[in-house]
Amino acid sequence: MILKILLYLTAIILLLIIPKIFSNVRTQRIITGLVLIGIMALPAVPFKPQGLFTLFVFYGIAILEKILPRTRYQWTSDDNIKSAFHLLVSKSFTVGFFLVAASLTKFITPVPWSLSQNHVPIWQQAILVAVALDFKTYFCHRLMHKVDFLWQFHKLHHATEELSVLASSRVHVLDAFFVHLLPTWAILTFLGIDSFALIPYAILLPNISHWSHANIDYPKDKFPIWAYFISTPNFHAVHHTPDNNLSNFSSVFVIWDVLFGTFQVSKTPLKFGIDEKNYMTKTALAQQCYPFIGQDKDNRSSTNKSPSNNVDFIERNTG
Ligand SMILES: [Zn+2]
Ligand SMILES: [Zn+2]
Repeated sequence: MILKILLYLTAIILLLIIPKIFSNVRTQRIITGLVLIGIMALPAVPFKPQGLFTLFVFYGIAILEKILPRTRYQWTSDDNIKSAFHLLVSKSFTVGFFLVAASLTKFITPVPWSLSQNHVPIWQQAILVAVALDFKTYFCHRLMHKVDFLWQFHKLHHATEELSVLASSRVHVLDAFFVHLLPTWAILTFLGIDSFALIPYAILLPNISHWSHANIDYPKDKFPIWAYFISTPNFHAVHHTPDNNLSNFSSVFVIWDVLFGTFQVSKTPLKFGIDEKNYMTKTALAQQCYPFIGQDKDNRSSTNKSPSNNVDFIERNTG
C-alpha cells in the first residue's frame, strides 16, 4: 500500500518536472507519453491476477482508441495529462482511505444480521452487493449533479474536452469519497459482507468504467440489446456533453437510468466538457483546490439544463 502511494507521488513529480527538464517539445511529448503509459499500469500494482486483468483491459482499450477513435486527440494533450494527474491524486487518496478503513473495521462489532456471520452463500452475497453498490453509485452520482455543493467536486470529472480511457479515474478526491469510498464502506459494514463476495463487482466497476470512457464510437447506429443493460462508450459520452449532464448516470448496469427515467441515447456525441471555460483552463492542482479556495462566481445553471431541452434525440432500433 505504501509502495503504491510512493509510486503515485513519483509519477506526479515526473509529470511536473518533465517540461522543466526537456526544453525540446518533441522530446517532452515522447517522455510524457511514456510516463502516461506507465501511469496506466500503477493501479495494477502489486500485479495480482485481478490487477493484471484490469491492466490488460486498460491497455486493450487504449489500443482500440488508436484504431477506432471517436474523435482524434493528442495523447499528450493538456487535458489528458490533467486526467492522469487527477487519477494519481484520487488513487493515492483511495489507498490511504483503505488503510484507515481497514484499521477502523477491526474495532466494529459485526451486526446481528451480518450476511457472512449468518453463512449466506457467497454467490448470493456477491449478487446482492453488486446490485446495492451499483444503485448506490447511480444515486450518489445523481446527487453530485443535483446539489450545488457536490457539483463543485464532480465538475472536475466533466471538465475535459477529451474523453479517453484515462478520464475514467479523473475525479476529485472528495468525489471519490462521497460517491464510492464512504458509502461503499458503510454498505459493506452494514450488510456484513464477506470480502470474497465483493470481488466480482470490484473487477466489473473499474473495467466497465474504463470501457465507457473510451474514445470509441460504439455502439454507433443501433444499440445491441446488451447495450441497454451494460454501460457503453456512447451511452456514457452523452452524459459528458456540455449541454446535457442530467442523464445516463449509471456506472455499470444501465437499468437504473431506465427505471428512473434518465436513460437517453443520441447521435454520436462529439463535444465534451462544461460551459465554464474559466474552470476548464485551470491547472490540475487548482481544480483539486477549487472547491475550497479560489471559487469564482460560476453560473452552473447553464451546465445543468434539463436534458429534454438539449439533447438531439434519435430513435434507435434494438438489434
Ligand atoms: Zn457526472
Ligand atoms: Zn464519466
